[in-house]
Amino acid sequence: MGSHYDVVVVGAGFAGLYAVHKMRDELGLDVQAFEAAGGVGGTWWWNRYPGARCDFESIHYSYSFSEEIQRGWEWSERFAGQPEILAYLEWVADKLDVRRAFRFNTRVTSTTWDDKAARWIICTDDGATCTARFVVSCVGGLSVAKEPEFPGSETFRGELYRTSSWPHEPVDLTGKRVAVIGTGSTGIQVIQEIANEAAELTVFQRTPNFAAPLGNEPVDLAQRRWNAEHHAELRAGSRQHMIGVPYDPPSGPALAATPDERRRIFDKYWDRGGFRLLVSTFSDVIFNQQANETIAEYIRERIRERVKDPATAALLCPTDHPYASKRPPFETGYYEAYNLPHVHLVDVRSAPIEAITPTGVRTSSKSYEFDVIILATGFDVFTRPLLNLGLRGRDGLKLEDRWANGPTSYLGVQIAGFPNLFVINGPKSAVALYNVPLATEDNVNFVAAALARAIADKTATFEATYEAEEAWGRLCEGILNLTVIPHSKGSWYMGENIPGKARAAYFFAGGAPLYRAICAEIVHVGYGGFALDRVSAPIPPMVRLDPAAALLLGSMLARGMKPLDELNLDEVRAVAESLRKLQLPGPAMRVETVEAPRARIYIPDRAGPLPVIVFYHGGGWISGSLDLADAPCRRLADENGAIVVSAHYRLAPEHSFPAATDDTFAALSWVWKHVSAYGGDPGRIVVMGESAGANLAAVAAIRARDAGIPLAGQVLIYPPIDPEASTASRTEFADGPFFTRAIGEKMWGAYLGGAELTELAAPSRASSLAGLAPALVLTLELDMSRDEAEDYAGALASAGVPVRLHRFDGLFHGVFNMSAFIPRVREMYASIGEFVATCKEQITEAA
Ligand code: FAD
Ligand code: NAP
Repeated sequence: MGSHYDVVVVGAGFAGLYAVHKMRDELGLDVQAFEAAGGVGGTWWWNRYPGARCDFESIHYSYSFSEEIQRGWEWSERFAGQPEILAYLEWVADKLDVRRAFRFNTRVTSTTWDDKAARWIICTDDGATCTARFVVSCVGGLSVAKEPEFPGSETFRGELYRTSSWPHEPVDLTGKRVAVIGTGSTGIQVIQEIANEAAELTVFQRTPNFAAPLGNEPVDLAQRRWNAEHHAELRAGSRQHMIGVPYDPPSGPALAATPDERRRIFDKYWDRGGFRLLVSTFSDVIFNQQANETIAEYIRERIRERVKDPATAALLCPTDHPYASKRPPFETGYYEAYNLPHVHLVDVRSAPIEAITPTGVRTSSKSYEFDVIILATGFDVFTRPLLNLGLRGRDGLKLEDRWANGPTSYLGVQIAGFPNLFVINGPKSAVALYNVPLATEDNVNFVAAALARAIADKTATFEATYEAEEAWGRLCEGILNLTVIPHSKGSWYMGENIPGKARAAYFFAGGAPLYRAICAEIVHVGYGGFALDRVSAPIPPMVRLDPAAALLLGSMLARGMKPLDELNLDEVRAVAESLRKLQLPGPAMRVETVEAPRARIYIPDRAGPLPVIVFYHGGGWISGSLDLADAPCRRLADENGAIVVSAHYRLAPEHSFPAATDDTFAALSWVWKHVSAYGGDPGRIVVMGESAGANLAAVAAIRARDAGIPLAGQVLIYPPIDPEASTASRTEFADGPFFTRAIGEKMWGAYLGGAELTELAAPSRASSLAGLAPALVLTLELDMSRDEAEDYAGALASAGVPVRLHRFDGLFHGVFNMSAFIPRVREMYASIGEFVATCKEQITEAA
């Protein structure tokens, strides 16, 4: 066995260079690195085809970790070409002096876990073997070309090139008949670049693509310097943006805009170039097929404007997949290339390519002759580069067996069963929709911190648990299913570009801010979801989120929302009111207002007398309003055929305890006496509240019993019950998601205003709960008040009160007001509907 190292790194692209620097120079570890290529650069060493360039602006598509590196490099174009990106990476490698850590022209062929020695055995294609405590794979997602489905490449007598292993010497295409197969990002870049050079250019297109302008331009000398000197402000907030580039946020939903407004916004971001068309236009295009069709049709219109021959234009217009369900390509003069008389478009969807022949290409309908064939047919993305490492984990577990049904991982960083193997930008990482250099730095930093922890604690094995991997997989899949991406056909996003490859969620589509927040939480709770020396830490709350709740949280983070407990009173109130934008609109109906007590009465158009719901809004006793409760009350009235009385109450801290409970009980008493005038049945009143409003409802139920007001039921939607409750959920969800223990304590403090804690604030302290109205208690898995609410439900039941308890997994405090974005809120309404219906039946039976 050869030498032993602390860490073996594989790959010398953006990821490998930074990983070596981090592990060797910052952690002081003994690092050996391998690279199959002859030099550094990864993607940019291999993909030397004409026209290759990046499509995030270079000032963003570059490292951010070093002030010196950012200041030291000036980008000559807005979107640099391959030679300049390669030169940059070579310059960085020299600056960091990392080349000496690498053995180039050396491919890792097998990587085997030795459980006894708790180390990896790494074999390379030069016959050498070494061992390492940790392996950090930086093999890239797009580093293994797809094998073409058609035979005969070796028989071709002309020149055959693959874009992903383009020769280092110049390739002269002048005067030649050239074929390009493939119209993905790569094919488009090649075609537009060589259209004027080749004598005849024939493009074999199977699926047309939605290409939008890149907007590239040279950067003048003064601007280059300015950019380098102002990188901090240019890149400020990048990581808080969904894709890691500080583009404008979208203007709201496309479906809420008029056609003229949509056109204006699409025009604006079409002209500005690049990913802005996707991320800065409208918030719903990636989530809603109908909204997506507005942008898809816009792009098709622009294609038809630019391509003169209508038949060619029609062939170039995609109609079989939503925009951005495949990775969007960008172009510069691509569509105009088809107006050149020597550029031909061949549809190989209707007549597939059957073979490459000695003289050219044969499709099912015709043979074509060429001097040069260029294959731009894509990559076996994410999984193949890792499979090629010949990985065998614990007990000889082969990665191909582990991944037979598609890739699994935790954060894209570790694979259960493969201890001490860390992957940078692996499958199910955020990288596919996150500016790669920043995604890379985040991943490498996470891994370096994990290694530092393992070394400091003398931990022999560090691995993801199978349970964490499953939870992460569910989150990735759930989020992807909320987007239009699964409606793509043949996309590498879903593994569908490779025949026989498992269709699955290959990446995390929740965006950079959410991914980063999840990683931070995992570290904060002591590597939740990982097992250190086989002792596992629990999977943290954010990994257990409902996918829609996770996405919503991600978009709040992207909008820079501060933690609730850091807000002042006015800000908390503004946040509470802003939740109205997250609610589904309520149906139209007759609404009466009364002033004493202040309330709104929602009256559905049904024959009475109707059951009655008295509703108290949430907001921690310090915020919230009748307006916040408006849409939910309309929906409750409509769905339950009930009169809903939404009761105002005075807020703390201006009006502390007992103002709110007195107001809400007064409203209930008023309803009992007067609701028949509005068509309500005073014998069928259900008192209901959300959050702090649920606490008030629980107290009102006790006061109603004591005052002899008959209630048909009480519905407590995630009620806070007692500020002094000491429960597991208070500890586990102290930092959220969304609602934190600190804000909960502030709210209780403001409400109580120093008053003694009695049953009028903490209903569980009532001397008896017997004789209370039947209760429905809705709780949320990821809510700090969950356990006290469930304990209260238990106490009610012990006192003989009929109780239904319904816990919703994956949801956090406040979701009742987020119905437009969290579809499962509908299950809460359904649960309420069933309960209210039962209340009616019980009362009817009793009568
Ligand atoms: P890579 O750059 O792929 O490096 C991996 C290295 O590992 C390779 O050099 C490979 O030879 C080596 N390797 C793999 N297996 C082995 C083995 N078994 N033994 C030894 N060595 C091995 N992303 C963006 O965000 N924006 C863009 O504009 C963009 N443009 C792109 C353009 C092209 C043409 C392509 C193909 C990709 C583009 N990407 C872009 C994605 C790009 O891959 C990443 O941005 C980034 O360069 C990946 O860096 P990496 O270090 O993770 O992997
Ligand atoms: P790709 O997007 O997967 O495109 C491959 C193309 O080859 C598709 O048009 C595909 O058609 C076609 N193809 C594959 N097999 C075929 C067959 N048997 N017959 C006919 N056509 C066939 O691959 P890519 O263009 O190399 O891009 C991969 C990724 O690399 C991009 O999505 C992007 O992430 C990155 N990239 C980025 C840039 C940039 O501008 N920054 C440039 C290049 C690459 P179907 O669609 O019908 O399968």
